[in-house]
Amino acid sequence: MTRSHFSDELAQAYVDGALSDREAERCSEHARTCAECRLLVESYRALASDLEALPSLEPELDFTRSVMAVIDEKEHAAAVSAATRSGWWGSPRSPPPRCSSASAPTPGRPR
Ligand SMILES: [Zn+2]
Repeated sequence: MTRSHFSDELAQAYVDGALSDREAERCSEHARTCAECRLLVESYRALASDLEALPSLEPELDFTRSVMAVIDEKEHAAAVSAATRSGWWGSPRSPPPRCSSASAPTPGRPR
């Protein structure tokens, strides 16, 4: 993967310190030589300090909660369908044959 100019996400993550050490290293390396990206990082840094200066971010709590609710729902659905599937597979239709069978056992596929 060749690292070209920073994407917005990357610049943001870099400013937030959300990158791994190696990523951050690469970013600072690039920013050192690229005025364009340095500017981008600079603007995100300014934005971040602006945000920190704000008194409070009430809506964010609600937002997080609603996102978590959606995620819970999805995970629940996934868990249910996984359980249903493993139930299908998990119920043996017949006891396993004697271990001495030479040919590879073909797994019984439902349907
Ligand atoms: Zn660049």
